[in-house]
Order: sequence, then structure tokens, then C-alpha cells
Amino acid sequence: MTEKIATTDGGQPVPSVEHSLSVGPDGPILLQDHYLIEQMANFNRERIPERQPHAKGGGAFGTFEVTDDVSAYTKAAFLAPGAKTEMVVRFSTVAGERGSPDTWRDPRGFALKFYTSEGNFDMVGNNTPVFFVRDPMKFQNFIRSQKRMAATNLRDHHMQWDFWTLSPESAHQVTWLMGDRGIPKTWRHMNGYSSHTYSWINAEGRMFWVKYHFKTDQGIDFLTQEDADRLAGEDGDYHQRDLYDSIDGGDFPSWTLKVQIMPFEDAKTYRINPFDLTKIWPHADYPLIDVGKMTLNRNVEDYHTQIEQAAFEPNNIVPGTGLSPDKMLLARGFSYADAHRARLGVNYKQIPVNEPHTEVNAYSKDGAMRIRNATDPVYTPNSMGGPVVDDPRRVAEAHWTADGDMVRTAYTLRADDDDWSQAGAMVREVLDDAARDRLAHNIIGHVSKGVREPVLSRVFEYWRNVDPDLGKKVEEGVRANNG
Ligand code: NDP
Repeated sequence: MTEKIATTDGGQPVPSVEHSLSVGPDGPILLQDHYLIEQMANFNRERIPERQPHAKGGGAFGTFEVTDDVSAYTKAAFLAPGAKTEMVVRFSTVAGERGSPDTWRDPRGFALKFYTSEGNFDMVGNNTPVFFVRDPMKFQNFIRSQKRMAATNLRDHHMQWDFWTLSPESAHQVTWLMGDRGIPKTWRHMNGYSSHTYSWINAEGRMFWVKYHFKTDQGIDFLTQEDADRLAGEDGDYHQRDLYDSIDGGDFPSWTLKVQIMPFEDAKTYRINPFDLTKIWPHADYPLIDVGKMTLNRNVEDYHTQIEQAAFEPNNIVPGTGLSPDKMLLARGFSYADAHRARLGVNYKQIPVNEPHTEVNAYSKDGAMRIRNATDPVYTPNSMGGPVVDDPRRVAEAHWTADGDMVRTAYTLRADDDDWSQAGAMVREVLDDAARDRLAHNIIGHVSKGVREPVLSRVFEYWRNVDPDLGKKVEEGVRANNG
């Protein structure tokens, strides 16, 4: 095998990788040692701002294959029967920093990018079907309450429960978080959900509301709090290692995509606001429909360029797919692209992992780190044969009626909209006795670490509202621990 010759970033062979240039063996080093300076300067600039939130994560490449026929609901080419689409996927925790342990209790990000024949489609989901808040005005404050205090720079359970108990809409998601699914065994053993309601448009132009559910084919599995705490010390990168090693060993994890479809008109009168991110659609009302299978089959070669710089955003929608009136989703349409511009620069879509596998004929131009040439004409309208808009029927966007005064107010309540019922249904109807016991055990352990009055009394009331028995157990357990 011929040896590779070490070079500078400019491709010139380097004179030494061991010794800097100095005046005599014991004298000062010299400024003209370009290679030394390049190495030091490059090193100083290796880190880019970490994501805020979802800083710690990992991922892989894969393929999505449609196994069923959902063409009655969407005309998207990547969802057509038999279509096969290349993907990149990133899993993450939410609150921890880039080096934080994979096994901390937290929701997991489940971000997917499909390189479709009509441009990129992204689903920036989680391993839970709901979220802590329903108005984007509260999101930033929610994340701050889960991260670090200003003075101590410590994460703080008192602060976390303070926010949650003053935000009763969090109850459904906090119930998930404190239950078994709050610490998946590995990324391979969790589901992914769009959480938000999105829209689909079929070939006739009819619209439907849709929720995506990626069900793990490995089976759901979890870590107990005690196992997770131990692993956080023994191997902070436990989930990253598991995914890499599985794929490296030829054991390719897969997920089956199922969707819930709601006819467009149902949304107006359904008993639950179908766009409220803190609620699920009960399966009995909207059953799951099979769509296809996602398989992760290729590890990344460079974590930085392919995962750290991967940029997922809900705006990446393709013909046949769209957003919905969910206020959180509409806000994410702005904030994700804005975050990428801040972290990666305005031309982040030219980083290879973010580039569509289709031709790009955009009227954008210049900017820092642009690497693909713009071509004339660089403006429109023009009479020089520049790109034109496709058939309006093909690119028709999702649309719905909105007409009213400008207000700052909560969603209009529907008959069955309240903050406790769905969380209570999970506790009473979905969990078995052992899972209910672990839920109480996890809550008691978490609350016993530093939560004080007046938050403590609100915590007991919060859980009594979810389920009276659970509330009683939590209060007894915490009072016993606190002496
Ligand atoms: P179903 O009985 O039809 O569905 C309950 C679902 O709960 C299951 O299909 C499973 O979803 C999920 N589940 C099972 N074990 C756990 C667990 N330990 N922790 C969290 N989720 C679990 O009832 P409904 O559709 O009427 O929903 C009842 C409650 O179930 C909801 O209020 C919600 O809390 C929860 N749930 C509902 C989901 C939905 O989209 N309808 C999805 C997940 C949970 P899966 O196969 O997706 O894991």
C-alpha cells in the first residue's frame, strides 16, 4: 500500500509533523512556521456553537421504502407506492450540552431528512407524541427552566417543577418523561412521532390532517433510573456507541411508519383541538395506517460534517405535504432555519449533508461560505430564460381559512380539551401496575432532589389532577424522603 503524504490544508507536503521550526534546537520558535500556525489556528476554531437545545446527539444514514398505498391522501413522490428514498437521521437529548450523558432522563429528538426526488422533506420529531407547551411564546422559557441557573450554573429540579406546575399543559408530556419512556434503552428501542399535526394534499388537491408515528421494529425498551444513572458514569455515550456498533456490525435498525389521517372537515368540530401539541388523537378515533419502513444502514464518516452540521427544519416540505394551524409548528418554521443561519451561516443548505439530491435553481445569491456558483440571471422576472414556477397545481401549498381579529389568547377550548385527561388516561389505562410503580418511583426520586415550597405543594396537586392515587403516592413518598 502506498503511504499517504501528510499535507497542509493547502495540499503542500509538510516538512515535519513532530518538530516546530526553531532557531537552533533550544531556541525560540519562528512565526514563519506556517504549518504549526495552521494547526494551532485550526484547532482553536474546531468547535462551532452547539445547538440550543438538542446539543447532544448522533445519527446515521438510511433508506425509506414505501410498502403500502397512501396515494388517496398525498401525492408526495416519496410517499408513492414502492418509492425508495435516501435519508439522514439524528437522535438527541434535549437539555444537556454536547458532552452530556446519553442516559439522562429527557425526551429524545427524532429528526429525519428525506432526500426526495422533489427536494428535501424533514420531520423534526421526538420520541413522544406530545410536548410540554402549546404556545411558542413559552418555549424559550421552558427550555431555560430545564437547563442551568444563572448563578450556580447548575441544573435544578426546583426550577424545572416550578415551570411545569405553573404550566398545567405540560402534564401529559411530564407523565411520559417520568415514565419508562423517559429513558429509552437505546435509540434503536424508541418510537419517533411527528408530535405536530401536519397536512397532506392528494392529486385532486384535497387536504387531510396527518400525524406520523415511526414505530421501532426492535421493540420498545427502557432503562430504569438506577441503570441510567450508573451508565451515565460508566459510558456517557452509551446510545451513540450502540447505534454505531449495531450498524457497523450489520444489524440495521428499522422503524415502521404509520400515520393517523383526519379528514380536513373533521378538524373543525373534533372534540379535541387537533392542532394542540399537548394532545394525541386517540387511536380509536383515528387508527394507524401503514406507510413504509425506514432502515438505518450506513454510519457517518465524519461526525462534524454529517451530523453536527446537519440542519433539519419543518420548512422542508415537498408537494403533497404541508404544515397546519399548530402555533408551535408555525413558529418552528421560523426558528429552525434561523438557528441554522446563526450556527452554520446563511448558506447552510450547501453543506453536503443538507443539500437536496435534486437540482437547485434558487434565486438566492452570495453570502458567507457559499460554494455553489450562482448563475445568471440572478433576478426575476427576467427575459433570459431563468427558472420559472412549476405547474401551480403541482406546487399548491397547504391552506386553510383564518379570519378574525388579531388577538393574544389561548386556543379556543373544545368539549374535551383539558390538561389532565390524556395524562390520566395513560396512567390508568395504558400503564400496567409495574410501570405505574416505576412512574411514581421516578417522580418521587426527582422531586425529592431539591424541590421546596411553594413549588412542592403545587407538585402534589399537579399529580393529584393527573390521577388521585398517583398524587397520593407521590406526596407520601416525597414527604417520607424529606423526613
Ligand atoms: P390506545 O390504547 O389505543 O393507545 C395507547 C398507546 O400508548 C399505545 O398504542 C402505545 O403507543 C402507548 N404506550 C404503551 N405503553 C406506554 C408507556 N409505558 N408509556 C407511554 N406510552 C405507552 O389509547 P389512546 O390512543 O386512546 O391513547 C390513550 C393514552 O395513551 C393517551 O392519552 C396517551 O397518553 C397514550 N398514547 C397515545 C398515543 C396515540 O397517538 N393515540 C401514542 C402513544 C401514547 P405506541 O405504540 O405509539 O408506543
